[in-house]
Amino acid sequence: MIKIEVNMELCQHYGQCVFEAPNLFSLNDDDKLEYHAEADDSERDNVEAAVDICPMQAIRIVE
Ligand code: SF4
Repeated sequence: MIKIEVNMELCQHYGQCVFEAPNLFSLNDDDKLEYHAEADDSERDNVEAAVDICPMQAIRIVE
């Protein structure tokens, strides 16, 4: 199990993470980010890709 944290003070809701890990990140009807705080280990590569691509460095994996 992976735990994910997004710093919503930093997040600008651009949605790059949504492309990298669509099972975990989405933009709601108001174009605000929503995400799952816990993910299966099988999502690790996708979450790491989201961490790397986030222009605000707002996503982190909590080990
Ligand atoms: S990529 Fe980063 S800034 Fe963009 S929506 Fe995701 S967490 Fe927010």
